[in-house]
Amino acid sequence: MPVTETHCPYCALQCGVALAPQRTSVRLEPTDFPVNRGGLCAKGWTAAELLDHPDRLLTPLVRKVPGDRTSPLREAGWDEALTLVADSIESIQRRYGRDSVGAFGGGGLTNEKAYTLGKFVRVALRSASIDYNGRFCMSSAATAANRSLGVDRGLPFPVADIAGARTVLLAGANPADAMPPSMQYLDAGRAVGAKHIVVDPRRTATAAGSYLHLQPLPGTDLALANGLLHVAVREGLVDEAYIRDRTTGFESVRAATNSYWPGRVERMTGVPEASLRETVRLLATNGPAMILTARGAEQHSNGTDTAQAYLNLALALGLVGRPHSGYGTITGQGNGQGGREHGQKADQLPGYRRLDDPAARAHVAAVWGIDPDELPRPGRSAYEMLDRLGTDGGVRALLVLASNIVVSAPHANRVTDRLNALDLLVVSDIFLSETAAMADVVLPTAQWAEEDGTMTNLEGRVIRRKRALDPPADVRTDLQVLAELANRLGRGRYFSADPRTVFDELRRASAGGIADYAGITYERIEAERGVFWPCPAEDHPGTPRLFADRFPTADGRATFVRVEHRDPAEVPDRDFPYVLTTGRNMQQYQSGNQTRRVHALTVALPEPRAELHPDLARRHGIADSDMVELRSRRGRAVFRARLNPGIRPDTVFVPFHWVGANLLTNPALDPHSKMPAFKACAVAIAASTEEPSTEEPSTEEGIIQ
Ligand code: SF4
Repeated sequence: MPVTETHCPYCALQCGVALAPQRTSVRLEPTDFPVNRGGLCAKGWTAAELLDHPDRLLTPLVRKVPGDRTSPLREAGWDEALTLVADSIESIQRRYGRDSVGAFGGGGLTNEKAYTLGKFVRVALRSASIDYNGRFCMSSAATAANRSLGVDRGLPFPVADIAGARTVLLAGANPADAMPPSMQYLDAGRAVGAKHIVVDPRRTATAAGSYLHLQPLPGTDLALANGLLHVAVREGLVDEAYIRDRTTGFESVRAATNSYWPGRVERMTGVPEASLRETVRLLATNGPAMILTARGAEQHSNGTDTAQAYLNLALALGLVGRPHSGYGTITGQGNGQGGREHGQKADQLPGYRRLDDPAARAHVAAVWGIDPDELPRPGRSAYEMLDRLGTDGGVRALLVLASNIVVSAPHANRVTDRLNALDLLVVSDIFLSETAAMADVVLPTAQWAEEDGTMTNLEGRVIRRKRALDPPADVRTDLQVLAELANRLGRGRYFSADPRTVFDELRRASAGGIADYAGITYERIEAERGVFWPCPAEDHPGTPRLFADRFPTADGRATFVRVEHRDPAEVPDRDFPYVLTTGRNMQQYQSGNQTRRVHALTVALPEPRAELHPDLARRHGIADSDMVELRSRRGRAVFRARLNPGIRPDTVFVPFHWVGANLLTNPALDPHSKMPAFKACAVAIAASTEEPSTEEPSTEEGIIQ
């Protein structure tokens, strides 16, 4: 059988894999693609199990009693399902206005699908109501990078450059669990003496291998980063020539850091003064050095300013734009980078253009063949849209692609209530996720190895996702579904279901934008093993490394932005005396809709564990593997406890791959990025005799076969 080289369906590293369909299964092996070089994690090795999984959705589903979500789902034909959706959209828009119908996308969609979904909402629905789950993932770092560097490309250099850094500060990042093959670059650096510093309230696998582990209280990273910059200024370690020649705005930042002296920062964060000083000395004198942030630092109600504080530090030390050096953010979702570039954000048009920019509107409208005045204005961000579902002025009909909101959105009880208030919920997925199980209409979609398209990985490298086998007979691609729905809404002439045709249009729509794909073709991606954007012309080599000479800002300089510590939106008090933080396990991916169905992964990790320090557990009479109830102001959940002497005694960690963690989390939003405060809220803990409050997915439940 032919072998197809494509990429793992999960995280943003996008490891290369070769698929060989056999008589009864699909053989999957790693390739030597430049990011994974023959490595895969357990998720990647087992990804082929998704392709013929018995839970797979194979036909559309609708409610037995239309409009009654308490009635079971039954199988339906495509014509019936799509007619129901299109008729409902038209009647809801007639009654409540165009913005009453919206869409919620995902960072796992291919570039072609993310682009088409954004266009579908603006051109077919003519609605402002769209956002996506990347708002919950990358938006803080993206906002900080845009305002400071003029561009948001997660890593502005190839991931392999990490191996050449002599010092790496990883803030809120745990690649040893989240993307294990990437550790080869950190390991290679360590093998020749590189020193790694990990900032994390838990002693993660990444922290365990580091030279220095800083354990701040969740929500105090900004104070920590400002404290590091204070030390750099006081010890004469900032790069004055770089600051003078390549940046603006440092004097205000220098002044702001006066009040972050090490003793005060130690009291605020819990990180010892000596560790602060050693960290700065390593970053400044043991170069080349990098600062990498991830969700632990970014998913806060001050996440943008926290990412900015680390960026300020990197700029002040003169790291950005130098070889094996710089600032980057480690993107999580498979197409978390491309998914935030081409128009599924509430305020965005393709090419990372702004929807409120008249020139951008004119350019994209011309590519789409519509009048710029037809384009809606920017809509509401993800949680703001979810919070108003079913209300006056809110969305009444929601189309969800590649997202399992019930598990992944904060304050899950509120989001579930709001989803229940919708007049119409349509979910496209490969399995009956917790969100799909609530839907009026479920549309079975093709998955990673059954479709063509492109993804953009954490380095900004645009790569090919290739079709290795046909989808099941009655399963369609999202591009087909969106084109067919547009057709039924009288706007079909604007849409194509062919990925190559869509990509060629995306190239034109992105031309001249920040994320410029104009020169990237399917053939070039194939021949060059991916092409880095910006790539404005077919004879342009692409841009693996940014910022060597200038920043893409009006004056070519990077901008310092003064930022000050603010307490998290919720701090511990007498009733809720501990801090809850959330994160990943090695065996699971995102909401777990896929990986919780993979046998080897569920055997390795059958349920979420609440991690707490033995001293904290002892105070509450909790032993390892006992049940522990966590309560916040928004909900409660019961988990099996794992005692971990490597976590702060005032902090509890829960993984977010199951229903549970987000029953507790705080939807307080960052004012700049609209990122919810996933990583710090106040909780109470108590021993419990209940069973864990997690549910395993099942396709059988509630469906009339
Ligand atoms: Fe897949 Fe990410 Fe694991 Fe690579 S690191 S195999 S892309 S989940």
